[in-house]
Amino acid sequence: MTATPAWPPQSAPRLHVETQLGDGVSVPVDGNPAHYLISVMRVKPDDIVLLFDGRSGEWAARARDIRKRDLILECISQTKAPESVPDFWLCCAPIKKGRIDLIAEKACELGVAKLQPVLTRRAVVDKLNLDRLHSHLVEAAEQCGRTSLPDLATMVKLDALLRDWPQDRHLFFADETGGAPLAAAFAAHPGPAAFLIGPEGGFDPAEREAIRAHPRAVAVSLGPRILRAETAAIAATAAWMTLNGDWH
Ligand code: SAM
Repeated sequence: MTATPAWPPQSAPRLHVETQLGDGVSVPVDGNPAHYLISVMRVKPDDIVLLFDGRSGEWAARARDIRKRDLILECISQTKAPESVPDFWLCCAPIKKGRIDLIAEKACELGVAKLQPVLTRRAVVDKLNLDRLHSHLVEAAEQCGRTSLPDLATMVKLDALLRDWPQDRHLFFADETGGAPLAAAFAAHPGPAAFLIGPEGGFDPAEREAIRAHPRAVAVSLGPRILRAETAAIAATAAWMTLNGDWH
C-alpha cells in the first residue's frame, strides 16, 4: 500500500515575504529569493513553496510563471496559524559584528519576541547594521519554522531604556558580579519578561547601580564563570524558555 505523501511536502522551501498572504493571493518573487528558488532549489511549475509574512501564519503556495529571474507563488492553503511566541524580549549591548549576528539568529530560533539593542558606556561597537540583523532574523525564521520575525528595535541608550521601561515587564539583569539564582528568580517573577546583557566590557558601576535601582529589575547570576555576551544571551534565553517560555 503506497503511503500518502506528507502535506505540506517536507522538502518544500520556506520563504518570508512582505505580501499579506491569503487564499488565492499571488506573490511575485524576484531578486535573491527568486534566485534561491529557481537556481538553488530548482523549483518547477506546480512545486510547493511555504510562505509566511509575519501576520497570516504559513501558507502553501504553488509555483507558476517561472522565468529566469522571477516567478509567481500562488497561495493555495494555510499550513500554520499565526503562532504566538512567548512574551520575552532580549536586550543586549551591541557587540562585534559576527557575534551580534549570532545573537540575532539564535534569538529568533529560541522564540524571542523582540530584540532590543542597548548602547552602554563600555560597548566596543556604537552602531549596528539593522538591515544585516534583519536578514539574519529572516533566515533563522525560514529555517526554524517561525511564522513571524522577532521585532527588531532601533538601538537605545541604557538610561532611555530604563526611563521608558514598561511597567508590566520584568527586567532580568544578567549581573556578572552576582545576582539571584535563575530558577528562583523566574519562579518568583512570571509573566512578560526581558533579559538585559552587557557588552564585552560589562556594565560600569554607575550603570549597574542604575539598573539595580529600577523597580522592575531583577539581578540574576548565570553561574560562577564569566560568559561571553553572546553565550550569556543565548543561555539566558534558553533558560527562560525552559522555565517560563514554551519549551514544555
Ligand atoms: N565585565 C565582565 C568581566 O568581568 O570580564 C565581562 C562582561 S561579560 C563578557 C558580558 C555580559 O554577559 C555581562 O555584562 C553580563 O550581562 C553577562 N554575563 C556574563 N557572565 C555572567 C554571569 N556569570 N552571570 C551573570 N551575567 C553574566
